[in-house]
Amino acid sequence: MDLHTVTGFRRARERADLALAPGERILAGGTWLFSEPQPGVTGLVDLTTMGWEPLSELADGGLSVAATCPIADLTAHGERTGVPLFAQCAHALLASWKIWHTATVGGNVCRAFAAAGMVALAATLDGVALVWPPGGGEYRVPVATLVTGDGTTTLGPGEVLRVIELPGAALRARTAFRRIALAELGRSGAVLTGRVDTAHDGGAATFVITAATTAPTVLRYPAGVPDAARLRADVDAVDGWYTDPLGSADWRHGVSAVLLEQVREELS
Ligand SMILES: Cc1cc2nc3c(=O)[nH]c(=O)nc-3n(C[C@H](O)[C@H](O)[C@H](O)COP(=O)(O)OP(=O)(O)OC[C@H]3O[C@@H](n4cnc5c(N)ncnc54)[C@H](O)[C@@H]3O)c2cc1C
Repeated sequence: MDLHTVTGFRRARERADLALAPGERILAGGTWLFSEPQPGVTGLVDLTTMGWEPLSELADGGLSVAATCPIADLTAHGERTGVPLFAQCAHALLASWKIWHTATVGGNVCRAFAAAGMVALAATLDGVALVWPPGGGEYRVPVATLVTGDGTTTLGPGEVLRVIELPGAALRARTAFRRIALAELGRSGAVLTGRVDTAHDGGAATFVITAATTAPTVLRYPAGVPDAARLRADVDAVDGWYTDPLGSADWRHGVSAVLLEQVREELS
């Protein structure tokens, strides 16, 4: 849709260009920004012109994913390198092929909907966000902590997500994925993911609930995959189930318990 209040547009080429004037907003893929009115937004600063390498390898075998990396590029990389969770989490988005090619990984994380597939992905793989504050410098924060609720993050005004780092140990791990939505093509009501590290990487297990709780819920088991009773007790102790047109809180709790048990069985 047209954004009638927007009168300015800048292409960012270097970090100094990311200093936002009052009323300016970062533009990534624009698939959310242009999907609803943005009262108060008078200017857009295009992040995709920064020229960041979409994907690059880290020294530990991990992957550095630029905030501007299109979701489709990450999915294709997962298919090439045998990381099924990339495509699974991308498919968890209610998004047409066209949106996938335009929407960025960083835009999905910063918009921070409960049903954000890239948040599910990053939380499951211990993704760490590298953030550029407006005054200079940088800091790192786990994506699972950065997202604080359905549409809220810890990002302050003018802070820019630069990159998400996925550690090598998480990429070497076995993973499992389940998703449910009330409508076949509807937005996710619950996304359940799990990961068990190789013995060489310590063998820990991690289970994550997104879309069913307002913020990512991460359950960790350093000694490996827990038994069914322990996982069920931990799921029942989780806070943050919520009700909206895509599902009620008790439905989300119930389906998450059932599907996370399937994830546990697959990883056992
Ligand atoms: C039909 C349709 C279906 C959708 N389905 C889903 C869905 O199932 N789940 C879901 O989560 N979303 C969904 N969306 C919303 C949106 O398309 C996605 O969240 C998408 O990934 C946003 O990415 P983008 O690059 O287009 O972000 P943009 O629209 O460009 O930006 C989104 C927000 O993040 C900010 N931002 C972007 N990048 C950065 C950065 N690097 N640093 C700081 N701030 C930044 C922008 O200022 C803006 O506020 C859907 C949208 C449509 C139109």
